[in-house]
Amino acid sequence: MTNPSLLILAGDGIGPEVMTEVRKVIAWLGDKRDLTFDVTEDLVGGAAYDVHGTPLADETLEKAQAADAVLLGAVGGPKYDTLDFSVKPERGLLKLRKEMDLFANLRPAQCFDALADFSSLKRDVVAGLDVMIVRELTSGIYFGEPRGITTEGNERVGINTQRYTESEIDRVARSAFELARRRNNKVCSMEKANVMESGILWREVVQEVHDKDYPDVELSHMYADAGAMQLVRAPKQFDVIVTDNLFGDLLSDAAAMLTGSLGMLPSASLGAPMENGGPKALYEPVHGSAPDIAGEGKANPCACILSLAMALRYSFDQGEEATRIETAVEKVLADGTRTADLMQSGDGTPASTSEMGDAVIAALEASL
Ligand code: NAD
Repeated sequence: MTNPSLLILAGDGIGPEVMTEVRKVIAWLGDKRDLTFDVTEDLVGGAAYDVHGTPLADETLEKAQAADAVLLGAVGGPKYDTLDFSVKPERGLLKLRKEMDLFANLRPAQCFDALADFSSLKRDVVAGLDVMIVRELTSGIYFGEPRGITTEGNERVGINTQRYTESEIDRVARSAFELARRRNNKVCSMEKANVMESGILWREVVQEVHDKDYPDVELSHMYADAGAMQLVRAPKQFDVIVTDNLFGDLLSDAAAMLTGSLGMLPSASLGAPMENGGPKALYEPVHGSAPDIAGEGKANPCACILSLAMALRYSFDQGEEATRIETAVEKVLADGTRTADLMQSGDGTPASTSEMGDAVIAALEASL
């Protein structure tokens, strides 16, 4: 049997630093859990621009499309700020998402007990929080036509169009229901069916997909503005939230901050199922390349390590090993090992990136 394949694109800034710690976990899984991946590595973002003059070379895209999953660190940095828009590092990532047709963006908002005090909300509102936001990623108002700035009479008009086809709603709804079945079996769909036709269609299609193929999953609908309120009032009421590109952009960022630090947040972008049954998928931390701390050994590797855990769960059907990694990270935090981003003044000496990675490995060892 061939090993599952994983393409690693470490990228720029702290990307390579956090990826070094992820490689330790991958090596550990091979040594101790008999779970070996065929790992290939390539360049993306500024690192790819430096070598190829483009943030995503064609052969890298081909490798990404052929891999069972892609794990990306981060892209971007001040060195590339003056580049033409078409070759900026971030374009490499956008192209990857677009060409792989990754239409479902999964953003978990999970609050580790040890970090509940980092949230802007009260501990009892967020401790134990575990919400998954599924944001439609390849359609909606960011892509709809017509768009642009025109002139009407003697003033300028800015235009964007919210547009969703039935099939676009159908497929992202299925992703949400499938996810819910692996979690607490609840989906809340958010739109503005009260004022938007695209919202009316969204609600209808999500309900139809539910009734036809997922009647076992508990489905509710909420207007997105009410959903935003509920998310900060009582976030633990939610399991999976499915919503469009624009509302998902806002709601997932708000939900992320309920949990404290950017250095803890993984994400996944999923496409259609491949022949092996798993979805085409890209996993990456939510954070960027953090140029302010790059090269200093200060970056928190947990978001990237937790992105690997998501890959294990959603691409490789290794939910048990995913949980083992998540539990190890939780234990490390509970034991008090923290990188600088997870400390308050007077908290003592922070762990370095590699010390944090080593602590996760030690916790994994202890789990056996
Ligand atoms: P950022 O996420 O890189 O950093 C924001 C702040 O959070 C910084 O103070 C940083 O030090 C801190 N931070 C982020 N990740 C951390 C970690 N793992 N450990 C400890 N601290 C961490 O966002 P930014 O500063 O707005 O952007 C910097 C660059 O990254 C820009 O070029 C931007 O375009 C790019 N970016 C890339 C991605 C991506 O690759 N997916 C996402 C966002 C931003």
